[in-house]
Amino acid sequence: MSDHYQTLGVDRGASADEIKKAYRKLARQYHPDANPDDAAAESKFKEVAEAYEVLSDDTKRANYDRFGSASGPGGGGFGDPFGGGGLGDIFEQFFNMAGGAGGGAASATRGLDLEVVADLDLADAITGTDTDVTVRTAVGCETCDATGAAEGATVQTCAQCAGAGQVRQVRQSILGQMVTTAACPRCRGEGQIVTDPCRTCNGEGRTIEERTYTASIPAGVGTGTTLRLGGRGAVGVRGGEPGDLYVQVRIADHPVFERRNEHLHADLHVAMTQAALGATIEFETFDGPVEVEVPSGVRSGHNIRLRDLGVPRLQGRGRGDLRLNVVVDTPRDLDDAQDALLRQLAELRGEQVDEPKAGFASRLRNKFS
Ligand SMILES: [Zn+2]
Ligand SMILES: [Zn+2]
Repeated sequence: MSDHYQTLGVDRGASADEIKKAYRKLARQYHPDANPDDAAAESKFKEVAEAYEVLSDDTKRANYDRFGSASGPGGGGFGDPFGGGGLGDIFEQFFNMAGGAGGGAASATRGLDLEVVADLDLADAITGTDTDVTVRTAVGCETCDATGAAEGATVQTCAQCAGAGQVRQVRQSILGQMVTTAACPRCRGEGQIVTDPCRTCNGEGRTIEERTYTASIPAGVGTGTTLRLGGRGAVGVRGGEPGDLYVQVRIADHPVFERRNEHLHADLHVAMTQAALGATIEFETFDGPVEVEVPSGVRSGHNIRLRDLGVPRLQGRGRGDLRLNVVVDTPRDLDDAQDALLRQLAELRGEQVDEPKAGFASRLRNKFS
């Protein structure tokens, strides 16, 4: 997911007016009416509209600033973190926990867990690797040393809730008197009030930054494997301990090998003569070239299993197999000598074949048959 501020070309402190101006300029530039049949402009236009939708709405913008987006080195992400499902729900849950009932003051609340995608190759999954992941996250504010207080200011216990972060409300309803607990309106559930908040972080004690961490990927991971980097999530408000960073592994499709659990599958192409007479064929594996014995008379669809050349088992010992599926290739580019030899063979074997058709037309037919 691209950064909304970058998309609009404004900085993070941009005013609503600046954002609107930037949006109008870009929207005019990339509008489909001005760029007929230009797919790139159209997608840019959508991106700009999406960015403006978030940044022009105070609540959405605050959420975006606070929770950020999580994206891997390949640019993979989880889409709009405030849309339905996905990360939005996770953020919501933690946010509710931080500001809601239960527990005492929220000033030392643990920070959010974050999620990021690591895009890897199949070779990485087989050998294991170290990979860098970059995430927008909350880190302790350096100006105020994560206290949230400007120099000389103090943090006081909230007088209204006596530091509990919540207040009881009594109201009359048709069912009688109801007592409910709600987040304290004065300290917004935090139990503490900073008399003079730090200008850098607005008293939160943390700022949003991009951070890169190295994730150690063990051999055997697959798409959907999730690794946890403890304490690498967002820090909490005013010195609250950090959450965790979850790294979701995504393995790119490989042009030759298909993975099924711990086994690798690939096609082994065999020439017609090799299939008939038997041959030793070199095949490049992740462990280097191996010599594969192809028995005489082999047919397409025959399976050759090479043990322990598959994917290491993530939990447990050993590796899966490499399973080769024989594909017998029919020759298509016969020259005159080869054509004559095959005809002779057909005759010896009593096999009926079409008569040769001399000249250009027959070559053309051979080529495209
Ligand atoms: Zn600060
Ligand atoms: Zn309070």
